[in-house]
Amino acid sequence: MKYAQVQNCIGGAFVSPNAPTLDVYNPSSGEILSRVPLSSAQDVDAAVQAAKAALPGWSGTPIKERVQVLYRYKTLLEQNIDELAALVTEENGKILGEARAEVLKSAELTEFACSLPQIVTGEVLEVSRGVECRVERYPVGIVAAITPFNFPNMVPNWSIPNAIALGNCMILKPSELVPLSARRIVELLSEAGLPDGVLQVVHGGRETVEALCDHPGIAAVSFVGSTRVAQIVYRRATSNLKRCLALGGAKNHLIVMPDADREMAATNIVASMSGCAGQRCMAASVMVAVSATDHIIARMAEVARAMVPGKDVGPVISTASLERITRYIDEAEALGATVIVDGRGARVPGKDGGYFIGPTIIDHVTPDMKIAQEEVFGPVLAIVRVKNVDEALAVENASPYGNAASVFTESGGVARYVMEHASAGMVGVNVGVPVPREPFSFGGWNDSKYGVGDITGRGSIEFWTQAKKMTTKWNKEAGVNWMS
Ligand code: NAD
Repeated sequence: MKYAQVQNCIGGAFVSPNAPTLDVYNPSSGEILSRVPLSSAQDVDAAVQAAKAALPGWSGTPIKERVQVLYRYKTLLEQNIDELAALVTEENGKILGEARAEVLKSAELTEFACSLPQIVTGEVLEVSRGVECRVERYPVGIVAAITPFNFPNMVPNWSIPNAIALGNCMILKPSELVPLSARRIVELLSEAGLPDGVLQVVHGGRETVEALCDHPGIAAVSFVGSTRVAQIVYRRATSNLKRCLALGGAKNHLIVMPDADREMAATNIVASMSGCAGQRCMAASVMVAVSATDHIIARMAEVARAMVPGKDVGPVISTASLERITRYIDEAEALGATVIVDGRGARVPGKDGGYFIGPTIIDHVTPDMKIAQEEVFGPVLAIVRVKNVDEALAVENASPYGNAASVFTESGGVARYVMEHASAGMVGVNVGVPVPREPFSFGGWNDSKYGVGDITGRGSIEFWTQAKKMTTKWNKEAGVNWMS
């Protein structure tokens, strides 16, 4: 075991809960990296008590002072990028370039949090003679963030910087598959000057999450993960009268028109379906090819075939994932789809125990096949052929998910039409991964997100704060009017 057993962080101290553990694997080699505790409701309570002790001091600190910690944290993320990225690669498997991009994104998220004092300045208006109304934002209190395996550094940083900049104290529950990055996040925040107790980390799985949803001391829960668990968490947290924002899975459609630039479309689409081994909630999953697009598909096949597993594409997270992804491909093939680039059975020299599958492109998939409907979460692209843009939109609109959709075309009119009519929260033109960058907010529609607001950017401010409306009158001669 390369790393000591993972510990929780409570009130600034790393502690080992008295809990059963799970092994943590390196997906590139199949070797055991560490063990992670499955914390209990008691461990969650200890974290809540530590957050409670820190809350008055932190929420009472002016926001301009609070974000000074985050300026230093951003610098530390940048200074330590090599080590942080290597850790992401080790526990998640993604290749080093992707891991570095993830840490850079964490720095961008923190940069946005540093700008919050300029954004949350409140509102003030003289509503009648001598009477003033003012709105100020207050923290929600103690909040929790539950995160998935696919971005061990970035997704925790979707929630932490904004939530704490806005005065909350937080409990992070990382994915039990990738628990190692969280410790470095806490250590760097502490080095940046974050007071003990503002951020706790409690490791675990289902039971830990349920305890977070049930604890009366926690006011809000953000969740990122699969739709199945997003529904469980949203229902449980809101039935306990907490606010909840739960981001779920995805099935992203890229609509490709015959006039699309061949090289631009081919390279962007392959990068989207294969980046992070397809384990991105923004990954291209279905290409809806409109009429004569064979020239683009042929070029995509060339680009995908040139990619080397282990060098250009990392492994997927587990043997279970590898088996699930392979099953989807086998089943589509058995039903008559054509596997034009086949990544099954990929072998990486020296990494025999790794969970590798190369980029896989499957043509002539029909919309009724499972691979066209369900989230595969691997480097696999299903191509569905249609005759026109309305048929393409019908395929996209039929999906219960709604994270991302994109169109590849040289026509402004078609681009606008698709952006307006796609049933997704994040849409793009000639981009494979239409991720909104800060200060814009990240969040999908339909079964890709439950709750109001978004998890990053301006859209998160409403979620992490509550507005206080203040009405004041000091001039005695103003008298009493019909409203105040
Ligand atoms: P997951 O749903 O299995 O796990 C997410 C979190 O929920 C983990 O912390 C896990 O410990 C916890 N959990 C698992 N089962 C639970 C249960 N029964 N009850 C309570 N908690 C439980 O997701 P994952 O496999 O780690 O991540 C991949 C999924 O996340 C994909 O579906 C992907 O699309 C999605 N995702 C979505 C976004 C987005 O922005 N919409 C971003 C990243 C990932």
